Amino acid sequence: MSENLKLWLRQQSARLCTDTLHRVPNMLPDEDDLIQFLSVLVDSVGTLRELQLAKVQSWALTAIGHDAPAAYDWMVLLRVLKEEIGRKLENAFTPTQALSAWRQIDDVLTYAIIEATQLASDMQRSELLSHMEQLRTQQEKFKESKTKFIAVAAHELKTPLTILEGYTNILRAETQNDPQLHIYLEGLGNGFRRMHEIIGDMLDVSLLDLRTVELKYQEINLERTILLVADSVDRYYASRRVDLKIIPFEFENNTFGDPEKLKKALTKILMNGLKYTPDGGQVVVSGALVRQDEVTEDLAGFVDIQVRDTGIGIDPENLESIFEKFGSIADASLHSSSKTKFKGGGPGLGLPIARGIIEAHGGRVWAESPGFDEDNCPGSTFHIEMPIWLASPKLPSDF
Ligand code: ADP
Repeated sequence: MSENLKLWLRQQSARLCTDTLHRVPNMLPDEDDLIQFLSVLVDSVGTLRELQLAKVQSWALTAIGHDAPAAYDWMVLLRVLKEEIGRKLENAFTPTQALSAWRQIDDVLTYAIIEATQLASDMQRSELLSHMEQLRTQQEKFKESKTKFIAVAAHELKTPLTILEGYTNILRAETQNDPQLHIYLEGLGNGFRRMHEIIGDMLDVSLLDLRTVELKYQEINLERTILLVADSVDRYYASRRVDLKIIPFEFENNTFGDPEKLKKALTKILMNGLKYTPDGGQVVVSGALVRQDEVTEDLAGFVDIQVRDTGIGIDPENLESIFEKFGSIADASLHSSSKTKFKGGGPGLGLPIARGIIEAHGGRVWAESPGFDEDNCPGSTFHIEMPIWLASPKLPSDF
């Protein structure tokens, strides 16, 4: 039967191609390509399975290669060709002969369909991967230009602000005897101070983002640093009758860090504790030694500083996004120029700055909360995990 089948296939080649292409027109492979495949099919008749598979694989590599659209078209064409051969065999031979002929070519046709499908999906996967890589690069570029824009905008805002302040100072000097004007000028002065803080935050966040922030390491005591920050925010807490309580750390907590930067990070978190806690509430700061199994020659584990408030809480789905730049989840209409007003959202730079500083020190910061509820105030806890260095650490290469 093998020789008969080969002869029949050769005789039918042209017809099989025309009928197949007629059923599925506008395919990338043409008649010559189909004829070439049919000659592979003819060569495989009567040979071992391994040989048949090798022949089909080498055909697929040369005929399809890395052409994804061609692979898809071959998947369709081969299925139709298989049907056409089956139909024509039934017409040309007795049922027994047709069945025996079919057994000899069925495997080869199936291998070819599998190869085309495999190549198509491989290419689709690699296309997808390279597309994802492109998207990632684009996203990185977008993030970088956003950061640069923030830095440029902050620098540009400084100049007009200085001019405004200059004129305000002249006015103040010339209107010393006018108490009403003096009140207005005080108001302007407060506004300028707040603008300076916001511009400073914009510069800080861009430096941290571009990883150009420099840490001036020195030996510090974490509890003392927290107490210093508490001192500086006490009057704001008092004005809102929120109790700020620091529980003494009963363990060695000297480490190395940049005290000014750490104070800035802690201030942001303590001021948020105040801002999102109603009058009469409480913010408690405590500390615990953690990750003691990671102790090395230079590292005595970590301190988990917890800042727990009795405020409005945070929705679980926002626990991570609040650390992103401009990640303020409050309605923009509630934004306030005051930095202490209850729920007075700001530009959303405080937590990204705090995270940037803490991570630059090799630490971590995250938030926990049962949820957001302005009526029942379930509260939030901010964890600041700081490494306890026994010697000044070498700066990580990217900071
Ligand atoms: P800002 O306070 O300027 O909006 P932050 O980056 O400091 O920006 O905080 C981002 C957001 O995280 C805030 O807008 C607020 O919704 C939420 N948030 C921060 N701290 C707390 C807290 N202690 N309790 C509840 N929500 C908080």
